[in-house]
Order: sequence, then structure tokens, then C-alpha cells
Amino acid sequence: MTSERYIQLTNIHLILPSGALSALTSLYIDTNTGLICSPPSSSSGVDEILTIDLKGHWVSPGMIDIQINGAFGIDLSDFTDEKTYVDGFKKMSEGLCKIGVTGFLPTIISQTKENYHSILPLLGTLSSSTSLDSKERQSRSLGYHLEGPFIHPRKSGCHPTSNLITAPKGLHSLVETYGEDSFVRRNEDSLVKMITVAPDVEGILEVIPGLVERGWKVSLGHTNASTEQALQGVANGATLLTHLFNAMPPMHHREPGLIGLLGLPPTSSNGSIVKRPYFSIIADGIHVHPQAVCMAYNAHPDGCILVSDAMHMLDPSLADGVHPWRDQHIEKRNGGITLAGTDTLAGSILPLPQAVLNLSNSGIPLSKAVVCATYTPAKALGGEVENMIGLSVGCWADLCIWDGKGLKGVWKGGKEVWYEG
Ligand SMILES: [Zn+2]
Repeated sequence: MTSERYIQLTNIHLILPSGALSALTSLYIDTNTGLICSPPSSSSGVDEILTIDLKGHWVSPGMIDIQINGAFGIDLSDFTDEKTYVDGFKKMSEGLCKIGVTGFLPTIISQTKENYHSILPLLGTLSSSTSLDSKERQSRSLGYHLEGPFIHPRKSGCHPTSNLITAPKGLHSLVETYGEDSFVRRNEDSLVKMITVAPDVEGILEVIPGLVERGWKVSLGHTNASTEQALQGVANGATLLTHLFNAMPPMHHREPGLIGLLGLPPTSSNGSIVKRPYFSIIADGIHVHPQAVCMAYNAHPDGCILVSDAMHMLDPSLADGVHPWRDQHIEKRNGGITLAGTDTLAGSILPLPQAVLNLSNSGIPLSKAVVCATYTPAKALGGEVENMIGLSVGCWADLCIWDGKGLKGVWKGGKEVWYEG
């Protein structure tokens, strides 16, 4: 696109981690490294800088989706052979990048041991640091999210109940299930970025501290946990709640359960080790009522993470109607999918930018809604992801461009993917 080494995006407002907008400013990108850089020194020569006027638009880091099971026709939990899987993964990463999701955690729902042993080593390779470097026009796989199989059978959602298990042998049960590969650290980092477990499944409360020690972020979900078990989960090291409201008991004022954890004090006061967790939420207007989303956001705005929880039919270009899928027929209509001829939800097809807009339609400023799909998930994951996602010098030049109404453009690794000026 350009021969200049540096790009100056000018006439922009930055969306800051607080959700506030900066004064009009510029941002510099080094196209050699794909990173945000300081203004180049005058010795670089002016002709090495390409200036692009973004006409007062807003710039945020690229969005990251910490829970996505598939998209663009691909189901990440489906394995036939290595080549098909890797090709599908690439297709999905390209599709996500186009809609502004420049980083994601491929999420595998409860599988058989054999399937884990085929899929996870591949995901490890696809998420390793070399693929974190800029593969043009593809979303970065930031490590993976294991959702299940240590979840409660009565809150299994769309997970096959035949795959659900307990952990009577503690950590050993997890090593047997996922395979040794998931427990190996690469470059000081764990490839398992997140695991969703139910604290009311045998052996799980006890293994949480060991998982946290390995750098895994533990999220509680798909559970019937009592208030006490929920609190114990957080006390043992869990720092997130998976798709708040879905696959957990509704909140009762005398038994607030997992949802009630949002009522914990903002900071751990009086020496308590129990910290208020982050929570992910599916803001598609179908899985959770917009008022419930808004209530959760207002209870803990700094903890709110928008996720798609999408499956293979997430594809904005896919027409409404009935689509065959394996031995079923699934109907897409009004931004949702159901088993054809029924009202049974068949998963989510929520594009993450739409989740941002839906949250902002609940009266939350768009720039603050953007934070819930960018800075907040990065903070929840910590480590390299937190360090590299942002608008400071040294961060990945993965960017979303917004006006007051929605997404106007995407950059990935210092290269423009698209822009609608
Ligand atoms: Zn789930």
C-alpha cells in the first residue's frame, strides 16, 4: 500500500482506558515492526512518513473476543484432519479481522479426551508467539479458552452432557483430559489463557490455585454453585465469570450465587482476599435482556467484558433463512439463531462490534462500551496480552476506527485492513 516506513494517523481522538476521549492528536505507526511508535526523529526524513487524516474519528485498540467457538462457517471444536482445521482457522481469523476483532481466544467446548488431544496441540502452534507476529489481515490467536468439560451437567447449555466429567484426581484429572501439551509453558507464557469450570463439580475448587499458578485465568460458569461455593471459587483464585446470567442459577436476594459476586466491594477491603471478578456477557439482546446487561455493567463497569460466544454461523454476510448444519437445520433471523421450526436458541451469532453498539444503546457512551471489548478483556488476561493491547508506544498497531455511530475502519499489525472515510 505504501513505501513509507512510518504512518502518522492524524486528526484523531484516542479512546482512553477510562473510556474518555483524548483531545485531537496523532498516532505514529512503524510499519516495519507493526507497532505503535514515537514520532520519528527528523533524521528519518519527512518522505518516510505517510500522513493520513482521519477527520476527527476515534481510535481504539483492536477488539479482542475471549470467548468464541467458531465463525464464518468454522466450528473450532470440530476436528477431521489437521489441514482442514488449520485452513478453517485461517479463514475464521481473516473474517474476524475484517470485523475489527484483531485478537481472540479460540474457545473449545466440552470434548472427548481424544478430540482435545488432536485439537489442543494444533491450537498451541497456531497461538505461539510467531503467529502472534503480524500475519496480515488475520486476527491474532492469543492462546485458547477451555470451556468445560469440568462443568455442571444441569447447566450444560449446548455442551454435550456425555463429555462432562469431574476431577477426582485433582490436577492429574485435568492433565489426563487436556494432555500434557496444555501444561507446557512457552516463552514464560501459558497457551491456555482461560478455563471455565464449575466450582460445584467434584475436585474443582481444590485445583483452582494450581491452575492460577500456571498462569491460567480461571472463570466460573456453567454451574449450579451456591453463594458459598461461588465465593470459595473466587477466594481460591478465580478472577472471571463466564457469560453472566447464562448457564447459572438466577439471582435470589437471599441466595445471590455467582451473579451476586458483582456485589462484592470494589477493592478487597479489611484484609479480605476475595476480589470482585471480571464477568463476560453476551449482549445480543437475546441471551440476556438489555436491562440486565445494563444493570450488570453499572454494578461493575470496570469488570464488564463483551463476548460473542459465537458459533460457526457468525457471518454478517450470511442471509436470514434455514441453513443445514450436520444433522440439524438452523434458522437465522433477527440477529439470532434457533433450531429450525422451534424457539430453541442454537447459540450466538453476535458480531462483537454489534455487542458494543448494543451496550451503547442501553445508554452507556459508545467510547465506554468500546472499552469492554478492548482494554478490559486485555486487563483480565494480563501478561503479554495486557502489555501489547493499547495505544501506547510499543503496543501492537491493531486499531479500530470509530465515529459516534459505529466502526469505520480496522488496522492490523500496522497495516490498514479497511477504512470507510
Ligand atoms: Zn458456555
